[in-house]
Amino acid sequence: MWRYSLAMWCAVATIGTAACASETPVDEDIDAVDGKADGATTFKEVNSTHSSATFRRYIERALVYLERSTDPIGPLTAKSIRTGRVKVDELADLTCWDFERVRTDLPDEGLDSSDYFKLQVAGNAPLIAISNAIEGYMWSNRVYVARNLPVARLAAVLAHEVNHVINRSEVGYYDNLPTSAFVHEYRAFHVEALIDPATYAGVNLSDYVVDTYELKRSAIAPELLHQPLTERLLPDTAAWNARRVSADPKDIDADCPSNQ
Ligand SMILES: [Zn+2]
Repeated sequence: MWRYSLAMWCAVATIGTAACASETPVDEDIDAVDGKADGATTFKEVNSTHSSATFRRYIERALVYLERSTDPIGPLTAKSIRTGRVKVDELADLTCWDFERVRTDLPDEGLDSSDYFKLQVAGNAPLIAISNAIEGYMWSNRVYVARNLPVARLAAVLAHEVNHVINRSEVGYYDNLPTSAFVHEYRAFHVEALIDPATYAGVNLSDYVVDTYELKRSAIAPELLHQPLTERLLPDTAAWNARRVSADPKDIDADCPSNQ
């Protein structure tokens, strides 16, 4: 649930200024954005054997956008990615186990374990279904993003997911449901709104999180609903010193249902 529904997202966007992802062209000339003519990029992909210059330009453009943010969240998010603390990839490059997690989170899509092997096939239905449902996903220090997002949206999604990474949301999310899920998502959306404020203009983030994730409001601690923002916000040195990614449990691909 450290993702959010694009369908719900689009419904919310009608009161903001953002467009749905599919309406916006991507991969505009990055040279006009940051002066890089050689396409050089500095970030690590989850699956570095499957890449493209187009995808790397797509991410690079968002990193430049983040670096130009006047809020420290932006440059620190970009730095977390450029230093390799957080890996970024597209949804087509989900690991086997991460695909299984996404599959479990999206029961309405009817995905099967064997669909994992279709993800990198052009125009495949499983990837379209996943991309229509979620803009971003994370597990451990792996962040996945949908393609074809406008640059401000992609930058905001990266800030959201990196916030989940430094807070180890894939664990803390379930500590005390639904309060814990509310805490983790509110914080991530707060960060996201700092990068893409136009999209959230006039939106009550507390209500948005409760509604989007279908959380039982009466079961959330009242004081949290009143003051929802908790640490940790900045992916800075102190945050990374407190977040030992190397200690995260490792997935064993051989045990993954898709590989059986
Ligand atoms: Zn989230």
